[in-house]
Amino acid sequence: MHLLIIGGSDAGVSAALRARELDASVEVTMVAADDYPNFSICGLPYFLSGETPDWRDLAHRKEFPGINVLRRHFAETIDPANKSVLIRGEWRKNSQIRSSRRRDRRGADPANAARKRP
Ligand SMILES: Cc1cc2nc3c(=O)[nH]c(=O)nc-3n(C[C@H](O)[C@H](O)[C@H](O)COP(=O)(O)OP(=O)(O)OC[C@H]3O[C@@H](n4cnc5c(N)ncnc54)[C@H](O)[C@@H]3O)c2cc1C
Repeated sequence: MHLLIIGGSDAGVSAALRARELDASVEVTMVAADDYPNFSICGLPYFLSGETPDWRDLAHRKEFPGINVLRRHFAETIDPANKSVLIRGEWRKNSQIRSSRRRDRRGADPANAARKRP
């Protein structure tokens, strides 16, 4: 199974690690628009206060064993019917990536969350 995750922050990394934890044979690709997956946004005040002088030290995790991380790659369009995502990136210009299942981790979707409320 190939799992494609869009977003490399808290939700995306959690999903990627958990998927591998449940099934080590899953092929996981994590696409992140930014260059710093799992960067601690919550830690920014420590950088601003000078407590953490180097902002690069705010990364929760820098190694992602078993996970194919595409940094600075942007998901342009998602085609759920064909389980396919158009990715624009520095190295892979407009490539099509297919996944067996899709997990979109680009932050919360308030509209969707509201629909799910009882
Ligand atoms: C200043 C600040 C302080 C905070 N402090 C705390 C705190 O103390 N405690 C706490 O619990 N929470 C805190 N938060 C909130 C916390 O940072 C968020 O809840 C958390 O980052 C949400 O994670 P996420 O993965 O859902 O989304 P995000 O962190 O928003 O990550 C989105 C990811 O998706 C990627 N992405 C977006 N669009 C695309 C695309 N089209 N293609 C590819 N990739 C894409 C982005 O590059 C990124 O990797 C704070 C937030 C801020 C801004």
